Amino acid sequence: MSSLTSMPNSIPFLDLVTPHVELERELSEVFRKALRTAGFIGGPMVEEFEKAFAAFCGTNYAVGVSSGTDALRFALMACGVKPGDVVVTVPNTFIATTEAISQAGALPEFVDIDERTYNMDPDELEVYLADRCTRDSSGRLISQRSGRPVTAVVPVHLYGQTADMDPILELAQHYGLTVVEDACQAHGAEYFSRRQNRWVKAGSMGAAAAFSFYPGKNLGACGEGGAVTTSDVILAARIKMLRDHGQAKKYYHEVEGYNGRLDAIQAGLLHVKLQHLAEWNYRRRDRAAEYKRLFDSMVSPIHAPYEPSWSRAVYHLYVVRVDEREALMSFLKDQGIGAGIHYPIPLHMQNAYHALGYAAGDFPVTERVASEIVSLPMYPQLQADQQRYVAEMILKFQHARMSELAVTR
Ligand SMILES: *Cc1c(COP(=O)(O)O)cnc(C)c1O
Repeated sequence: MSSLTSMPNSIPFLDLVTPHVELERELSEVFRKALRTAGFIGGPMVEEFEKAFAAFCGTNYAVGVSSGTDALRFALMACGVKPGDVVVTVPNTFIATTEAISQAGALPEFVDIDERTYNMDPDELEVYLADRCTRDSSGRLISQRSGRPVTAVVPVHLYGQTADMDPILELAQHYGLTVVEDACQAHGAEYFSRRQNRWVKAGSMGAAAAFSFYPGKNLGACGEGGAVTTSDVILAARIKMLRDHGQAKKYYHEVEGYNGRLDAIQAGLLHVKLQHLAEWNYRRRDRAAEYKRLFDSMVSPIHAPYEPSWSRAVYHLYVVRVDEREALMSFLKDQGIGAGIHYPIPLHMQNAYHALGYAAGDFPVTERVASEIVSLPMYPQLQADQQRYVAEMILKFQHARMSELAVTR
């Protein structure tokens, strides 16, 4: 142990340099090819990547778009979510989830999360649909909170682990709601569908799903990017129109759309990196197992992530819970260990959503979790000795706190 405590190097929260340096030759070739053909927008690089990404996700189609936020917005719009509708999601997510809902003209409403998985709690969704909604004279489901029609649900597969989709899909079916997955943190995550009696991929369970290729995601572009996956040919066609000014054919605009395409260069770069995604995800799972071994072997204050039997998570983030988070984080920082909080303020308590009228106490699980979570270093290139150092420093922190307590007592 003592040999490691003097480990000099720092352990970053994330290493985005190494994977790009390793693939520099192939990535540069994509750029050269685009330069020589001036194929910057659309074309074969985009189409080939879309085909490969759809195959990876187990869907018929993937449509490349400019970001994960646009992916979710276009997916909701293509599914028929209209201005004034309510879309149900969770308060424990990145704000892009609710931004996309608002940008589609809809109103986000929240249900609380499961304390063990940190994802949407299907029981809370059921309580919301059964007790907080009514039917109007034409049979539409109406939110009592806002008086508006509820038309869609967005479960978020946060930190790389899918939400418990079977009960969510069943409830949605029962209440006539569309399900759009926010899979922006879950490229390659798997869920054991009891309904289908097989493992299925994140992004293949809802009517459509949104992915982000922001550089830090498990599959990241060298810039911005996103995709919508779906197996519905009509939805795919609508999303293609929405990303390209509402045109199915050049200058024939069926609807007003957006400038929301995926660059050809980014598609080419993503295609190169996609070949490595399964291996990178495997290494992330392996790193998570190593952390778990370390934390299980010590009397630690660390609450490791919970992976249900129906889940194969891809650990976009490695999120643990601790009692004295702020003190631990500043201690880790002093030891050269990067850490983060995803996310410190639940969406219903953000200033941006003051007008939604929620208050502290509305989503107790999310609020409790938000004050205790900390994300430790996690990436495919993370080394076992670096993880051992992280675990040792957490133990050292705990010992220091315990002797402090003993003195003050
Ligand atoms: C990253 C992310 C998004 C948005 O993706 P961008 O590509 O940054 O627009 C949406 N939802 C979640 C949960 C994310 O993590």
